[in-house]
Amino acid sequence: MQFNDLHRQHDRIQEGLDRRLGKVFQDMHFISGEEVAEIEEKLADYVGVKHVISCASGTDALVIPLLAKQLKKTDAVFVPAFTFFASGECVASAGGTPVFVDVDEETFNLDPDSLEEKIEEVLKDGELEPKGVIPVDLYGLPADFRRIRKIADKYGLFLLEDAAQGFGGTIDGRKAAGFGDVGATSFFPSKPLACYGDGGAMFTNDDETAKLLTSLHVHGKGKNKYDNIRIGVNSRLDTIQAAVLLEKLAVFDEEVDLRNAVADRYTERLRGVVKTPTVPEGFRSSWAQYTVRLESTEQRTRLQEALKAQDVPTMVYYPIPLHQAGAFRDLRPAVLPVSEKLCGTVMSLPMHPYLTEEEQDFICGIIKKNV
Ligand SMILES: *Cc1c(COP(=O)(O)O)cnc(C)c1O
Repeated sequence: MQFNDLHRQHDRIQEGLDRRLGKVFQDMHFISGEEVAEIEEKLADYVGVKHVISCASGTDALVIPLLAKQLKKTDAVFVPAFTFFASGECVASAGGTPVFVDVDEETFNLDPDSLEEKIEEVLKDGELEPKGVIPVDLYGLPADFRRIRKIADKYGLFLLEDAAQGFGGTIDGRKAAGFGDVGATSFFPSKPLACYGDGGAMFTNDDETAKLLTSLHVHGKGKNKYDNIRIGVNSRLDTIQAAVLLEKLAVFDEEVDLRNAVADRYTERLRGVVKTPTVPEGFRSSWAQYTVRLESTEQRTRLQEALKAQDVPTMVYYPIPLHQAGAFRDLRPAVLPVSEKLCGTVMSLPMHPYLTEEEQDFICGIIKKNV
């Protein structure tokens, strides 16, 4: 069994994709071909924002908006400790200092109370200046933007949404990637909306920000790419990846529905057996991952081994909280108990839109027998 069976999805889109790629190979406009403008427009429509600037990866989609902020080492940007490394790495790459915040045990997402506590700590301490916050839509569930937006406004912080996993999720019908001043997403092959390589996109409603991001992602261009008015980067989504995304976006809404059906079936079968994930009222997840919590690391190891023996792959996202990552060893030490506990007890199960009921019965049967 595969953790994320991309073959089944490929079989479904192959005909249309072959046609699209045939056209790309005829045009030979591998950078900035017309498919790139087309996918940007469709993504803007999908999320309901004014501007989409595509780029070369989800990490770049986080770094470029931070470059626009011209961060100094003394600028604090608040990041949940329980997430993929890039959510914190981007702050350091852009010249700022990440300050790690704890998460909510039920939703796995940034805990607004911990955020406010950490902001107050930084203010009291006086060494750093609070500048921004990067909530992460972990496993596909949008972060608590109802509360986080209020806190960001109260302290004058910019809000950068890491929607690398959350693309396709909603709060009160509003789409993920549209909750921040800028939203960033990734099209890495394992994400809900994915291409066949690296890719990413930035989303914003602000005209000035859009201009700045457009400039920064192509060598700080001004009127054209040989009029370089600031130091930028080279980070573009290529035409082949845009063509892949156009085919996949056409079936994406249906795939998010299918992922929700898969998640519901897991929860029906596993409720009371292990701790199943929580989706708060008004929220919808795009289920980048289906992640359960276990009693202990020993229990997790036992279950992972039992599943592996039957050819069922599982993953631990993430084994180390960011405040304990080697790369951040020089930052001030922090104790973030929920993030630390989750790293020792979470386990993600196979998840993709085409997982069958029989496969899920098989997986859940093994779990029930071995808890
Ligand atoms: C995947 C991911 C990223 C980085 O995206 P890439 O396209 O791999 O650079 C950033 N944040 C989170 C939460 C992710 O899951």
